[in-house]
Amino acid sequence: MRWRLGRRSANIEDRRGMGTPAGIRMSRGMRIPGGMRMPGGRAGRAGGIGGIGLIVIALIAIFLGVDPGFLFQGGPMPGPSYQPQQTPPSESEEELKAFMSVVLADTEDTWHALFEQLERPYQEPVVVLFSGAVSSACGFASAAVGPFYCPGDRKVYIDLAFFEELGERFGAPGDFAQAYVLAHEVGHHVQTLLGISDQVRSVRANLADADANALSVRQELQADCFAGIWAHHADRSRQLLEPGDIEEGLRAASAIGDDRLQRQAQGYVVPESFTHGSSVQRMRWFQIGLEEGTLSACDTFSADQP
Ligand SMILES: [Zn+2]
Repeated sequence: MRWRLGRRSANIEDRRGMGTPAGIRMSRGMRIPGGMRMPGGRAGRAGGIGGIGLIVIALIAIFLGVDPGFLFQGGPMPGPSYQPQQTPPSESEEELKAFMSVVLADTEDTWHALFEQLERPYQEPVVVLFSGAVSSACGFASAAVGPFYCPGDRKVYIDLAFFEELGERFGAPGDFAQAYVLAHEVGHHVQTLLGISDQVRSVRANLADADANALSVRQELQADCFAGIWAHHADRSRQLLEPGDIEEGLRAASAIGDDRLQRQAQGYVVPESFTHGSSVQRMRWFQIGLEEGTLSACDTFSADQP
């Protein structure tokens, strides 16, 4: 992406290196209320057992209305192990932070313009950068849940170490892949401002699991489509995209599809348990947003087959 000359957003809250919030000490294997264990280290998660604690955290997150993260799965959780950051951020992390602030600023410009057409105010979200673990209005979260949006405080939470995993473990490197992740979370913010998230939550409450999951998939695919809307305007209005960027975004959308993650985690796929959509669905809706650039193109709830 051609981002260096872009405006930088002031809506970045840097909480890296702050460790755990006062009064909370987290350690591997620590018990949390309810008798569940915090996830173990990388090796434990790879075995598929250590993810239980995270599943519980994610379920609590869903209950509280938080997007439980890009990568939430019923299996092992990707994401960095918990390690409070003692050393000052590296040069590459500082660069990543600058990049995030430019992408965030660009989403602000895009959504301000689109909300103006709707004659509604766009309230900008804050992006919290953290390392290891963070407390939000949606509760306490480990970096292992992946980036997430909390409607309670209208903030996006990202551990920059996630992007390393995205490149190395999920085979989706590149700055545009990272931008897509942020734009997806901002998409959840837009859904919150438009009242879509509230509607989904109240309908979901009366549905059986499989139907509730199907509704979440539609909500997630819409956030992918909204990320595409941002990319459309970033490209058309500000020429931020370079050759290869779209492919990076599509690769990221594909890498974190539920089917691909489930196959990696457990060797088989259970479509009824999907909460984010398959790789093909995620790529398709990102592309629809990218091509059309309008909110009306992203009605994943009316589509027969999302
Ligand atoms: Zn999401």
